[in-house]
Formats: sequence, structure tokens, C-alpha cells
Amino acid sequence: NILVIRSFFLLLLSCIAVKTNLCFPSISASYGLGMLSLEGRLTFDEVQHAARDFGNRYQFLPLAVLHPASVSDIAVTVKHIFQKGASSQLTVAARGHGHSLQGQSQAHRGFVVNMESLKNPKIKIYSAGKFPFVDVSGGELWINILRESLKYGLAPKSWTDYLHLTVGGTLSNAGISGQAFRHGPQISNVHQLEVVTGKGEIVKCSPDQNEDLFYSVLGGLGQFGIITQARISLEPAPDMVKWIRVLYSDFKAFTRDQEYLISSEKTFDYVEGFVIINRTDLMNHWRSSFSPQDPVQASHFTSSGKTLFCLEVAKYYDHGDTDEVAKEVEMLLSQLSYISSTLFFSEIPYIEFLDRVHVSEIKLRSKGLWEVPHPWLNLLIPKSTITKFAEEVFSTILTDSSKGPILIYPVNKSKWDNRTSVVIPEEDVFYLVAVLSSALPSSTGNDELDHILQQNRRILDFCKAANLGVKQYLPHYSRQEEWKVHFGPRWEGFVRRKSAYDPLAMLAPGQRIFQKAL
Ligand code: FAD
Repeated sequence: NILVIRSFFLLLLSCIAVKTNLCFPSISASYGLGMLSLEGRLTFDEVQHAARDFGNRYQFLPLAVLHPASVSDIAVTVKHIFQKGASSQLTVAARGHGHSLQGQSQAHRGFVVNMESLKNPKIKIYSAGKFPFVDVSGGELWINILRESLKYGLAPKSWTDYLHLTVGGTLSNAGISGQAFRHGPQISNVHQLEVVTGKGEIVKCSPDQNEDLFYSVLGGLGQFGIITQARISLEPAPDMVKWIRVLYSDFKAFTRDQEYLISSEKTFDYVEGFVIINRTDLMNHWRSSFSPQDPVQASHFTSSGKTLFCLEVAKYYDHGDTDEVAKEVEMLLSQLSYISSTLFFSEIPYIEFLDRVHVSEIKLRSKGLWEVPHPWLNLLIPKSTITKFAEEVFSTILTDSSKGPILIYPVNKSKWDNRTSVVIPEEDVFYLVAVLSSALPSSTGNDELDHILQQNRRILDFCKAANLGVKQYLPHYSRQEEWKVHFGPRWEGFVRRKSAYDPLAMLAPGQRIFQKAL
């Protein structure tokens, strides 16, 4: 009995030590980490930051965080863990800016690679020639790439709505925004990658070299390798943006116009939209950034008690082209059937337009409302079922849009490459619907969060029951059976790629697709 009690206490002490990482010299020794020759540093004590993400719902403490100074630091560490074999149970997660929602960039008792420490290569623009491009580190933030490329009058073509995300983080998903209908997602705008595989090998890949690894990694949820470098396509950047919002009360008219705009040659440069359910004072809120075309008419329009659909479009232009662009915009708007009194517009520099969500971030941070739980739900919905989805979800399930924006916009499948790992619906046109709720603190505990999670569950259950052919974007499942359904006929290919590039299933454990070892 004494022996049992003694072992119990020893076990308890070691658990406490591991949980608080008090035993880091012995961790380092037992895993032989002290032997590694690194230019950067490995920390065992300052690891709390790596256990957090934007979703603010899951927190898994890693054993250690690597702050790499070079690609070799990442390769050496991954190879070392790989050579320990399956028995070590150690896993490795690349952490970009940690803006995942459900712990995807975390590694419970594993290693987190803090990709933002990797400053090599410095952002390098190749502006000569017909097809300019930029070489960047996988841990670079898109906002920094934009700032640097603008110095050459250039910019990447495809974006996310928010730019304080890393290249490796968005390329592991897809990277979608209002330019995707024309240029495809960010993963369609990459020429070449450098990747550290789950075996610790450093491999260059592109459509012409190690093609299978290249397409595996794009949209690959971090499963096949750590992106350490990317070569991204650039285009001439405009000076300014005409940014326009108009409202619809008829969903069919709204989607008809959106679909028309994404199918036309002569169209806007950015097409998005969002749903407004029972908002009071909407127009006054807009007036801080937009001007109504007709202030008197606009002041008579009320949004309260209504479900409205806002088409948001933008046209890029240079300073010299003001008159021409005004005519073009007028022509495009004349073909649409929005409620005429609801035309609002704004003209801002290109960088301000692309970095627009950061303005909201600053405001929310100042009120302590940025670091709240974010139970977001992102769905890709085929064109043929979007009306059925809208009829149920925007009237019965979601009864107001006060918890955060509800984005809705279509993209063209022809701009997505089916050799990448991302899973999308079967049809030529499909919609992104993003229900971006924040669970604000309430005096009654977790009620708000539970309520939003329940709504999300109802939406997913409805999609399944009605057989809408929906796929999750930024997918989250906790059981492999669910992942199999998500991948459908592509599951076997995904598993084959996993065995080839990360045979011990060490990488990105926070996605919960595979368990070390396969
Ligand atoms: P992390 O959260 O750090 O990592 C995400 C996943 O990628 C993890 O599994 C991680 O292990 C893996 N990973 C990270 N870096 C690498 C790497 N170098 N190599 C391999 N794997 C890696 N998405 C859109 O498409 N469009 C949007 O408009 C959009 N807007 C957003 C707005 C906000 C405010 C937020 C918080 C997110 C938004 N997203 C959007 C989602 C975002 O693109 C993803 O969550 C993305 O993964 C975040 O990038 P990150 O650098 O924070 O990645």
C-alpha cells in the first residue's frame, strides 16, 4: 500500500511539474534537446502565449516553444523529434499569428514553432518583368508584405479581409476575400514554397518541382510540412478604391446581382456582401465611413425589424483616372436592382481599404472586446442550395445580427486548383457564408457562448438534414470519422499524402485529424 501511495504522489508531482513546465531542464535532457545546434532559441518556461488563439476557447500548454532564427532551426528540431520515433509522443505545431479558432495552432505537451520569429528571407520584391513576385518567410504577416510591395507600386492579388495573419497560416487554409472570384484564393497565387516536412527535410516545391508536396501543403491544414518560404504573385497596385454599399430586401435579387458581377468581364475588383437582421440605426452607423448618394432619401430608410442583404463592392483606380472610374461605376451600378435610396459610397487609399478590419480591431481592443471567445462558423455553400440555406438560417435560426458580421459572397470554382488539399463544394459557383460571432462577457457566465454554439450546431444540423452539399471552411472536427466525411472521396489521397510527408503524424496536432503515430 505504501508503495502504491508513494507512486501516486510521484506521479502527481511529475504531472504538476509537466503542467507548469517546472521540470524543463529534465525535459530538455530527456529529449536530448540540449544537443541541438540552434541559431534561435528554445524556451520551456514562457509557453503560455502559444496556448492561446483568437477563438479564445481552447488552451493547450506546449512543452516548449521554438523561436527559429533560420529554416535549419526548424528542420533540426523536427528531424530530432522524428528520429525519437513514435514512442516519444511529441508533436509539432507551426504557430503563425495564432488566429485560429479552436486550438489548430497549438500542441498539447508538444513543440510550438513560433513562425513570426523566422525573419529569413527578408521580404524581397522582384519587380522587373511581366510577372512580378515576392519572396517571403512563411511567418511573415500579409500587412508587412503589402507595405513593402507598395513601395514598388505592386501588391499581391488575392487577400483575406484581415491582414494581420501569416502567409503560412492562410496558405494552410485557402485565404479568401472579395478578390477571390477573379484571382482565386491566396493558394491559387503562389509560385513556389519551401517546406520542412514531418521528417525534418527541407524541400523546395512548385508546380514543376516536387509537385505533389506543393499541392498537398496548399490548403493542407499544416498536415504535410511547415511552410518556411513562399513566392507570391504580384500585380500593379492601384492608388485608390471606390468602396460602395447598397441594400436589398429580396435575397434572390441580391444573389442574382452578386452572381452576375462575379461572372462578368467588366466588373468590380472586389465583391462581397453581408446579412443584416433586425438592426436599428444601421445607416447612421455607416455614416462614419460612408456618404449616402441621396442623403434625404437615405434618412427615410429604416432597417429595424427587417432582414436586409448588403452588397459590398469596390473599384480600384489611380489618381489620374477619377472621371473614367466614376462613369464605369455608374454603368455597373445601373445594371443592379438594389433599393435605390440605400447607395452609400466612400473613397479611400488602397492600403486603408485592404487593412480596414484593423480599424475595427483597434476600436474593439480599446473596449476589451477583441480578446473574447469567437465561436465562428465558416461554410462553403453551393449556388444551387444557397436560397434554401438562407430561408432557414436567416429567418428561423439567426434572429439578429448583433453578435457580429454575417458575410455572404460567391466565388468561381474555376479559380481553385483541385490538386490542392482544400475541400470545396462540387458546383461551379459556391458561396462563403461566415457567421462571425463574438461571445461578449455577460453577468450570467457562459450563456452567450453556449447560445451561439447551439445556433452553430443548429445550422450544421440543418445543412446535413437538408443535404445542402455544404463544406466547412477553416474546418473543425474532433473525430476522424467526421474528417472522413468532410474529405469524402478525397480522404484516401489525404491519408496517402500524410504517410508520405509526415509518417509519424507529428505535425499540426491541433487540427485533430490524425494522432501520432498513424
Ligand atoms: P495560425 O492560427 O497560427 O495557424 C493556423 C493553422 O496553420 C495551424 O494548424 C497551424 O499549425 C498552421 N500553420 C501556421 N503557420 C504555418 C506554416 N508556416 N506552415 C504550415 N502550417 C502552418 N480567412 C480567410 O480566408 N479570409 C478572411 O477574410 C479571413 N479573415 C479573418 C479575420 C480575422 C479577424 C481572423 C482572426 C481570421 C480570419 N481568417 C480569414 C482566418 C485565417 O485565415 C486563418 O485562421 C489563418 O489560419 C490564420 O493565420 P495565422 O497566421 O494566425 O495562423
